[in-house]
Amino acid sequence: MKIGNVLKIIGALVILVWVADSMMTIWYEQPRPDLKSTTQKSVRYAGVIHVHSRYSDGSGTIEQIIRAAHTADLDFLVMTDHSTLQPLIDGYQGYHNDLLVLIGEEVNTSAGHLLALGLDHHVEQQGNEGLPALLDSIDSAGGLAILAHPAGRRPWTAWSVRPVHGIEILNADTAWRDDHPLEWIRVLLFLWFMPEGALNSLIDRPDEAINRWQTLAQQQHLVGIGSVDAHARIPLWGDQILQFPSYARMFGLLRTYVVLDSALSGAEVPDRQQILDALRNGQCYIAVDGYEKASQFDFELQVDDTSFNMGSHVVFQQGSQVRVKAPSSGAVLVRLYRNGQQIVEVSAQDMVYDLSEPGVYHAEAYQVRPRLFGSEEARLWIISNPIWVEE
Ligand SMILES: [Zn+2]
Ligand SMILES: [Zn+2]
Repeated sequence: MKIGNVLKIIGALVILVWVADSMMTIWYEQPRPDLKSTTQKSVRYAGVIHVHSRYSDGSGTIEQIIRAAHTADLDFLVMTDHSTLQPLIDGYQGYHNDLLVLIGEEVNTSAGHLLALGLDHHVEQQGNEGLPALLDSIDSAGGLAILAHPAGRRPWTAWSVRPVHGIEILNADTAWRDDHPLEWIRVLLFLWFMPEGALNSLIDRPDEAINRWQTLAQQQHLVGIGSVDAHARIPLWGDQILQFPSYARMFGLLRTYVVLDSALSGAEVPDRQQILDALRNGQCYIAVDGYEKASQFDFELQVDDTSFNMGSHVVFQQGSQVRVKAPSSGAVLVRLYRNGQQIVEVSAQDMVYDLSEPGVYHAEAYQVRPRLFGSEEARLWIISNPIWVEE
């Protein structure tokens, strides 16, 4: 046989193995069935944060986005168009059936992009030195300043400037732009047959953002948020765009859950405040719901007979325990971190851990997914907010 033919056969075999391996990987990334919900002490609401509409560079109208949010069964939706609060002026904030829409904006600053939530007026940075004044004005108006995609294409560059309330740990838009072109090809190949699995496969643990967050969290209260940064818009040529990935798909992929002591009332103003307060306090967690709805996750600190939720600041006492629950219809791995360092890992859906020292504790849960030839991979599913255990 000619050497050229041998090379062709080898090439074809390599492609065949890659396609087979890719197909199985995406297949193994498909959603698991959701668990039936059980009664819980606190109530959870699933929301999506950081969404763009036609008011800036998104492809959908707010009506279309609200329909997508209904399809994805969201409880709340936080719109953040670039440099405008016009959707607020146009009356979109409030309940749309049982979906609560909050209107914020994404502000361009000299140090990167910032989400400003909970404000009733548009804000912007004045001059090159205006960042501290901008952050102060958001804070004093009772708003939330959240660093957008701090480790993404437009990274944040002013880490010492405060006050900042939160930081996007997972930004779905960044997560998939960061991936290797081969992963993109794999996703485009299988998106039509296994859309959830294809999108899930693009989300990896954002090590850099988590490390940055955990370092800062040792000095200040700083909340981790998961955001979709959805535009549903891939530019093609001229005015042509591809409405992809769709809003509904993105809303099913990555969510931030807020954990409340009592159910929302159905009245816009107090409910909006409750959600914003939960985000500010860190009573929330990030979930890759494309794998399985994470509505029953729990992370709390138990001191004597009192339990403290995520976001709490508690003075260290001997006998304190942290409890993690990540109920799933399949195999799960739970990791506990102190000051950003992993201290324990269990192959179970529950963990109880006796604390021996203060620190900033947070939990992560992973879905154990099979791979070819009997191997397994732990895939990121949930990131909790910390409990600050202080001296
Ligand atoms: Zn941005
Ligand atoms: Zn954005």
